[in-house]
Amino acid sequence: MHGRTTRAGGLKDYCATGTGYLGCGPPRMKVFIDGQFYAESDAKISVFDHGLLYGDGVFEGIRAYHGRVFKLKEHLDRLFCSAKALLLDIPMTHAELTRAVVATCRENGVRDGYVRLLVTRGVGTLGLNPKRCRRPSVIIIADSIQLYSPELYDKGMEIVTVPTTRNLHSAVNPAIKSLNYLNNILAKIEANIAGVEEAIMLNAEGYVAECTGDNLFLVKGRQLLTPPLSAGALYGITRATVMDLAREAGLTVAEPNLTRYDVFNADECFLTGTAAEIMPVVKVDGRTIGTGQPGPVTRLLTERYHALTRVTGEPIV
Ligand code: PMP
Repeated sequence: MHGRTTRAGGLKDYCATGTGYLGCGPPRMKVFIDGQFYAESDAKISVFDHGLLYGDGVFEGIRAYHGRVFKLKEHLDRLFCSAKALLLDIPMTHAELTRAVVATCRENGVRDGYVRLLVTRGVGTLGLNPKRCRRPSVIIIADSIQLYSPELYDKGMEIVTVPTTRNLHSAVNPAIKSLNYLNNILAKIEANIAGVEEAIMLNAEGYVAECTGDNLFLVKGRQLLTPPLSAGALYGITRATVMDLAREAGLTVAEPNLTRYDVFNADECFLTGTAAEIMPVVKVDGRTIGTGQPGPVTRLLTERYHALTRVTGEPIV
């Protein structure tokens, strides 16, 4: 039942009307599949879809704030780039996808929430050849999300480095935001075993790439540092936004290769992601980072990030 309270009406209203989720009737969520809205219980795709059979497809996680879809153009640009790398023809244009994302938010009463947009390879045969798939499917889900507790944002997170390295870009390029997330899931399992919520993934050369679902930043003096995309970092939309905000705040921004030593000796460390937003990190592999508290640059960038979410985005009308 979690995550359902920010849609219009909220969980209380679902039950007050006697048609709520708690066993008293059909849920009201509407899922967009290939141009039509389906009730949550009817939102289904074929077991022969290669998105399921092979993780063959691409996706985006997008946020809405204050009745606007944040950075929608940038997310759709990345979606098309991921699809191009897979020779996957998205059966909708950029403009059509923009309208469909906005319409899905509107249908679900989402003003502050989270949108998951997927394009699967579509229905095919049991063999892996994508040429045998008829037509890609577009799925849009608008819901809410809270990855971490508010206390964690106040106190900062402890993370570790895990043994699973980030995919080689010559094998499965980490720049492709594909439905195949096993590399990240293996690392997440190792984070779970270590008793933490996020983890640093190194690349095959031992440089820091990113975390399982977030980009990583360090603050050293007046410098903001983050691994280059060539180290195996996703072209994060939050990453790019934070880099712009840092430059506006007079910080120098650089993308050098970073080692664990650099992380341990940074003044501040934080993670960025659409869902996670900006999460301070205060301990890595048992080493306290800086003062052990979220630092002033992390706080400043967090404030500026939230201020930006209040004034930009594609209106949900
Ligand atoms: N890295 C990975 C592996 C991710 O899955 C994500 C998205 N959750 C990010 C970084 C952050 O990207 P964005 O800021 O665009 O959400």
